[in-house]
Amino acid sequence: MARRTRTVKPEQPLGSLLQAPAAERGSCAACGSESVTRLAMDLTDGTPVTFVSCHRCERRSWTAPDGSELPVASVLERTRKRT
Ligand SMILES: [Zn+2]
Repeated sequence: MARRTRTVKPEQPLGSLLQAPAAERGSCAACGSESVTRLAMDLTDGTPVTFVSCHRCERRSWTAPDGSELPVASVLERTRKRT
């Protein structure tokens, strides 16, 4: 009698990565490099943002808590103003 002891496990597809904000992934949104500096900071208007600076392409980005990227000009303007 031939016994088959082969257990078939459903394989989890690991290729489907969720589209998370670049700041949460800890990688550069432009070149995908993980060699980035992350800093949590607050703008002068009280908005907490995550600053990500890439060491490879020198891209700098600020990400809001909701995951949206803030324009650099907007950030600089907000940090300049004193309320
Ligand atoms: Zn980069």
